[in-house]
Amino acid sequence: MSDIAKNLADIKQEAGDCIIVAVSKTKPHEDILAAYESGHTVFGENKVQELTEKYEALPKDIEWHMLGHLQRNKVKYIAGFVALIHSVDSFKLLKEINKQGKKNNRSVPCLLQVHIADEESKFGLSYDEVAEILTSEETQALESIHIKGLMGLATNTDDSEKVRGEFKQLKAFFDSQKHHPELIENADMEILSMGMSGDYPIAIEEGSNMIRVGSKIFGARTYQN
Ligand SMILES: *Cc1c(COP(=O)(O)O)cnc(C)c1O
Repeated sequence: MSDIAKNLADIKQEAGDCIIVAVSKTKPHEDILAAYESGHTVFGENKVQELTEKYEALPKDIEWHMLGHLQRNKVKYIAGFVALIHSVDSFKLLKEINKQGKKNNRSVPCLLQVHIADEESKFGLSYDEVAEILTSEETQALESIHIKGLMGLATNTDDSEKVRGEFKQLKAFFDSQKHHPELIENADMEILSMGMSGDYPIAIEEGSNMIRVGSKIFGARTYQN
């Protein structure tokens, strides 16, 4: 077995029923194929250009997830095939995804990204903004999107209790929205995407059902300019 297949098998053991998105950003096709040939079909990328290039080159039964900040003018390149957009961080973006979904005759599955970390640079909606979007008639009118849940990135810190607290709060909010009497029809809280290489064991303990793991599967990334 390749190192990649072995890493993935180990994480699958730990993850139980939790879905693993193998985050392949910056990694070559051969690394993705090593995971794919071991039976894994769910991959995530954070840049539109890299995502479309890999989608075109690699097997068509791969489910491609978009994880990174998405600019509105690039939605059109992925709306026809993307399996899940994790990083919806504004209502304007949701409207554009709806428009492009309609053009492609499909309803695009999305997660709302919630800002749970204390770092200012990270993207995401506040809890109040998410609650507003999930109960508004304006969102309900968007027929070519389906909000499947929430995504959060914890603070990048060694303080595991801090990370645990952020995940715990997101899970409690997720549960409260799931049972909200005014939750709109094109939203249901099925997916809670939280946890990456450094913190997925904590995320799983706190109720995540989808983890996004890159370096623990494929090894450290090297970025080139
Ligand atoms: C890169 C990335 C990941 C995976 O990061 P690792 O630490 O390598 O597991 C997860 N989520 C998002 C949004 C990312 O951009």
